[in-house]
Amino acid sequence: MQSKPTTICIDTAGVEALCQSCGVCCSTFRISFYWAETTAAEGGYVPVEMTEQMNLYRACMKGTSQTNPKCSALTGTLGESVSCSIYENRPSPCREYEVFMPDGSLNPRCNQARAKHGLPPLDVRFVPAV
Ligand code: SF4
Ligand code: SF4
Repeated sequence: MQSKPTTICIDTAGVEALCQSCGVCCSTFRISFYWAETTAAEGGYVPVEMTEQMNLYRACMKGTSQTNPKCSALTGTLGESVSCSIYENRPSPCREYEVFMPDGSLNPRCNQARAKHGLPPLDVRFVPAV
């Protein structure tokens, strides 16, 4: 009988590395937000040329409203090494996405997205550094 793999525990510093070796959320969901987050509006910061206007009020990251979404700001290879080319200016959904749930378990949407890309589930738990 195969033994269950050990759960990997990570703290805040480990989350960045985890996501840099995954990236599937940037290639699974439509990333939409209020249009005024884009540089088309005064004070906006998301480069408007990397977005699509969806309607009067909402924009989305270019490439994420198609059948097989892929954000135009994502570089690298999914499941290996990725980065966001506009990280400092990414929109609110990317900033607000909770990688971990309040009990420390991984957001189930992460492994759902990984499955869609044929990647194995991550068995990680967030444990705050003391
Ligand atoms: S799917 Fe989850 S683990 Fe993967 S990059 Fe996105 S937030 Fe990070
Ligand atoms: S803007 Fe950056 S973080 Fe947000 S979906 Fe695109 S690549 Fe991912």
